[in-house]
Amino acid sequence: MSSPISPILDPFGRPITYLRVSVTDRCDFRCVYCMAEDMTFLPKAELMTLEETETLCRRFMAVGTRNIRLTGGEPLVRRNIISLIRNLGAEVKKGNLDELTITTNGSQLYKMADMLYDAGVRRLNVSVDTLDPDKFREITRWGDLAQVLNGIKAAQAAGLKIKLNTVALKGTNEDELADMLAWCGDHGIDMTIIEVMPMGDIGGEDRLDQYLPLSMVRAQLSRRFTLQEIPYRTGGPARYVRIAETGQKLGFITPLTHNFCESCNRVRLTCTGMLYMCLGQDDSANLRDAMREGGTEALDAAIAEAIGRKPKGHDFIIDRDNNAPAVSRHMSVTGG
Ligand code: SAM
Ligand code: SF4
Repeated sequence: MSSPISPILDPFGRPITYLRVSVTDRCDFRCVYCMAEDMTFLPKAELMTLEETETLCRRFMAVGTRNIRLTGGEPLVRRNIISLIRNLGAEVKKGNLDELTITTNGSQLYKMADMLYDAGVRRLNVSVDTLDPDKFREITRWGDLAQVLNGIKAAQAAGLKIKLNTVALKGTNEDELADMLAWCGDHGIDMTIIEVMPMGDIGGEDRLDQYLPLSMVRAQLSRRFTLQEIPYRTGGPARYVRIAETGQKLGFITPLTHNFCESCNRVRLTCTGMLYMCLGQDDSANLRDAMREGGTEALDAAIAEAIGRKPKGHDFIIDRDNNAPAVSRHMSVTGG
């Protein structure tokens, strides 16, 4: 849908039309590549209220944001999150937003799917790294695969379109990715495979042990499936192919081996009101303080100033000399 508002442009002329909002840093899982098991979370007092988060979303909409994705942490475990989803979903119904989407681990979908659909959500990304219940428990530490798969079923029955997000993990799910792709084909689900990114301290785990280049995954999948190039783009880091045998799309997110920045259309807001202009850089702007101290005008100026600082690209590296996180915050802070 076209908008009457011309979107704000960053210094490289990229229109910023997509806002990702991490509504909580907390999660009911502890995925090994994302969090340490004894993760310390933010004190609740530091979080913005859901009303403040909504105010910020509305100011972004006033400068041309057309898509909002809620993420986390696990967005669906934030208390009363459905109220924010309903209010933003109402803007989709009025045509003021093109889409409201959610990235979730799927644990709450068995009970929330219908509510999400009624609120105006039509698409979900559900993160599942394996279809083996024991491995699922190993990767998520606390997750229950059956509950997530029930959630996916409930979501599809409610009318929600699902995309599976799968992180490629060396020695863990690398032999299973082709079977997962076939499973997605059987269930009418698109899939995106993600390379592990060097974000945040994850305790004893070693990123180099987890890192599996997607060039290898692609070669392996090509032995079983026909991967057809398609021009589909979302302004995000994924590059898509169509799987001839199933008709579904398969995306590859390869931030470490490819540069995906030239068409970047997004910025990321954390649950404390910090705006990150790039997933792979530490620069941020404190929009919560601008909003609390200066009101709408100060907030609008802070948003414009922050987008005016959006960098051209990121500098992720994982190799033997650079095994420390390239970005000190966890993915659960900016939500990926
Ligand atoms: N909890 C929700 C979920 O798991 O979908 C939303 C937040 S999670 C941080 C968003 C996505 O980031 C998930 O697909 C997850 O697998 C991915 N992710 C987390 N840490 C990552 C890392 N270090 N490298 C690559 N992907 C990561
Ligand atoms: Fe939680 Fe998602 Fe991180 Fe897993 S990837 S620990 S589900 S935030």
